[in-house]
Amino acid sequence: MEKYDVIVIGGGPAGYTAAMYTVRAGLKTLVLESVAPGGQMNETTQIDNMPGFPEGIDGFTLGQKLMTGAEKFGAETRFEQVVRADLSEKIITTTGGTYSARAVVIATGAGHRHLGLSREEELTGRGVAYCAACDGNFYRGKTVAVVGGGNSAAADALLLSRIAKKVYVIHRRDTLRATKIYHDPLLQAENVEFCWNSQVEQLQGQERLSGVLVRNVQTGESRELSVDGLFISIGRKPATQLFTGQLELDDNGYILADESTKTSLPGVYAAGDVRTKALRQIVTAAADGAAAANSIEEYLLKI
Ligand code: FAD
Repeated sequence: MEKYDVIVIGGGPAGYTAAMYTVRAGLKTLVLESVAPGGQMNETTQIDNMPGFPEGIDGFTLGQKLMTGAEKFGAETRFEQVVRADLSEKIITTTGGTYSARAVVIATGAGHRHLGLSREEELTGRGVAYCAACDGNFYRGKTVAVVGGGNSAAADALLLSRIAKKVYVIHRRDTLRATKIYHDPLLQAENVEFCWNSQVEQLQGQERLSGVLVRNVQTGESRELSVDGLFISIGRKPATQLFTGQLELDDNGYILADESTKTSLPGVYAAGDVRTKALRQIVTAAADGAAAANSIEEYLLKI
């Protein structure tokens, strides 16, 4: 079994920042990534809010740069999926082998919940989106729809109402679940139209999304909406299944950890979207990675 000082699970911005900091601190570090460096950033072709990149950057390139930056100082990457994590012993099993470490950083991120519609994956980035703060600007002056009725859907709809020509809000109930603060501005916005008691049945369009078929769940009637974009805001799902029962999680499955990234288990840290936090973005994920490395250095000095 190969031994490392630090194993980082997940090669997104949190994971690679943690790895860059731990190798620079002289700790032998392995990053285990199941898909590709960059994590969720690979889902977007344009990141415009990355400090230091005034022209913006695509998520794939930024992911590669993060990996190169960490590897330049000696971090190793293995493209293997972690299938088992014995966190108390810090033994990690992947599709390619078993490794042990003195400290573990969990940076497995969180994914958007999907509607599960046919062609949803194929049209993602081609009209189907999951993050209005990230992709809303591409729909300036266009017609969009938001699916969902919670806080994130309401916030997305409000943001889009200032950018887009027209915003449909498609919600399967007859009232918003979102906090009251969103209700009045949304109900008063002239370019926002609610489709209550409704759900999206079908995504339309060839190369790009051109519309959606929406069904009223009470009357059974269907209606076609011509839209350029569909923002699916029905919540997020943290990638914490492997750690259930080993760490304290909140009610939504996120790992309980503050800005130190320390979890309920000594020597195990949660960085990025996978932990409880208010804002899930690239810069906050990277900040967590640096904080995790700092906490690890303190921890390893004591054991
Ligand atoms: P992630 O990026 O989710 O990375 C986690 C990694 O862990 C993934 O690569 C995953 O494959 C890996 N992993 C998970 N489980 C395992 C396992 N069992 N074994 C091995 N590896 C595993 N933020 C911004 O700041 N600006 C933007 O413009 C922006 N645009 C976005 C656009 C889209 C479409 C999306 C989806 C998100 C966007 N975000 C944006 C949010 C941002 O991408 C995330 O906040 C950030 O990537 C979180 O980083 P992370 O490292 O915590 O997790």
